[in-house]
Amino acid sequence: MGSRIASHSPLPTPHSLLTMADKLNLEVITPEKLALREQVDEVVVPGLGGELGILPDHTPLISQLKTGVLSYRQGGENKRMHVSGGFVEVASDRVSVLSDVAEKPEEIDVERAQRALDRAERRLASRGDDIDFNRAELKLQRAMIRIQLGGRG
Ligand code: ATP
Repeated sequence: MGSRIASHSPLPTPHSLLTMADKLNLEVITPEKLALREQVDEVVVPGLGGELGILPDHTPLISQLKTGVLSYRQGGENKRMHVSGGFVEVASDRVSVLSDVAEKPEEIDVERAQRALDRAERRLASRGDDIDFNRAELKLQRAMIRIQLGGRG
């Protein structure tokens, strides 16, 4: 039984060692939870400088993320998530997203997002000295993405 393994297991050939990965292992992590762990064919993340598309065998990279939509493809199916801040690391077949927020469309409370949007708009419109502009702008961006993603039913 033991000899069967030793005598019949072919050693990897140089060709098979060079075979490219055809899937990506995507992980999305927030300070609160592991939001997603899936094998996927393609990922697009909202990089600070614009959308960043990642296919298997992508060059290793680290990029900061902005508030936006992360999308990923599994076969013919496309799925989307809201992410906000943090960064993405690509290393061999692994895509690790560490973000302040990660929500699937079905986890989003659209009415709550609408209230957050109204609050942020009122704050920004008031132009008071006591307004934390960056914070209000961030809340506004998140609320808009939540309404866009969660409102699709
Ligand atoms: P709110 O004022 O409604 O709390 P917020 O912009 O202050 O919104 P965040 O700081 O962005 O909220 O998020 C705090 C936590 O609440 C996160 O875990 C986030 O996923 C969750 N969250 C916020 N808004 C929603 C929403 N509309 N639907 C589902 N989860 C939400």
